[in-house]
Amino acid sequence: MQYYESVLDLIGNTPLVRLNAVTEGVAATVLAKVEYLNPGGSIKDRIAQRMIDEAEASGALRPGGTIVEPTSGNTGVGLAMVAQQRGYKCVFVCPDKVSEDKRNVLKAYGAEVVVCPTAVDPEDPRSYYKVSDRLIHEIDGAWKPDQYSNPANPASHYHQTGPELWKQTDGKITHLVAGVGTGGTITGIGKYLKEVSGGKVQVVGADPEGSVYSGGTGRPYLVEGVGEDFWPENYDRTLADRIVEVTDAESFAMTRRLAREEGLLVGGSAGMAVVGALAVARDAAPDDVIVVILPDGGRGYLSKIFNDEWMTEFGFMGGSGETTVGEVLG
Ligand code: PMP
Repeated sequence: MQYYESVLDLIGNTPLVRLNAVTEGVAATVLAKVEYLNPGGSIKDRIAQRMIDEAEASGALRPGGTIVEPTSGNTGVGLAMVAQQRGYKCVFVCPDKVSEDKRNVLKAYGAEVVVCPTAVDPEDPRSYYKVSDRLIHEIDGAWKPDQYSNPANPASHYHQTGPELWKQTDGKITHLVAGVGTGGTITGIGKYLKEVSGGKVQVVGADPEGSVYSGGTGRPYLVEGVGEDFWPENYDRTLADRIVEVTDAESFAMTRRLAREEGLLVGGSAGMAVVGALAVARDAAPDDVIVVILPDGGRGYLSKIFNDEWMTEFGFMGGSGETTVGEVLG
């Protein structure tokens, strides 16, 4: 018989797939790390498992405790899944820009979800950061993983995702391209790859226009899970060799192309990262191997990025996006 002991054993060891269509005219090899194949559907399963492991080991999280975290969804799913397996309760706090689909996924695992306004300052008592701080003090046995400062977040990528990439590319990887949210992915993988390659691997961050990583003021953008309006502890500012600024329009157009041209149904931050990877690929040598991280799948964005009316309403698409019978028949 061939099976795993529990769903948690399915985390990590995700495959790399070559991008063949959106890379037209590019000589370098562009490989995508398909993180939506993790059991919770995103790259965040990895950090959830490691943060909980380390909190159990340190005694910060005790049997029957409650996990409280401000999250845009994916970290919540990872935490909710691990918590379900280990008998913890979960309360998640997220901004109102997060799709209802994503919030319902959290509830499906048995978690509680508190929704806060996006358009307020992080210091405002209504902000999702502040609300989660308050809940920590009010709930007995509460533990806040804090993916923004918890060293287990980048550590999971340093010890797991980074070595996976080095092994999968047989040490031939020349560039890593990743979106930056908490900074855990780029910091952990980037640090490992820099060390193992003697500084040769180039680390490239992709960032939404308006976010601080690419010099913005933190003004709002619509792509979810990436970009920040503050500098998290888990982002190592010395690591990235380059940051590529990507607009929402570019991110969403590429996200849709990945589904239609590569058969990869992914989220907006994946589209954004691929735009960054193609910017790198244009200047790359033919034998360069560029790896781009696809953090999550597209199912959570069906009513937004993959919805023509939503795209049109926000000015990302000309016309209705629908094809009439007349157009098809000529
Ligand atoms: N994409 C999505 C959809 C995410 O949820 C996140 C996590 N916030 C990221 C990208 C960025 O990853 P990291 O937090 O490791 O920088």
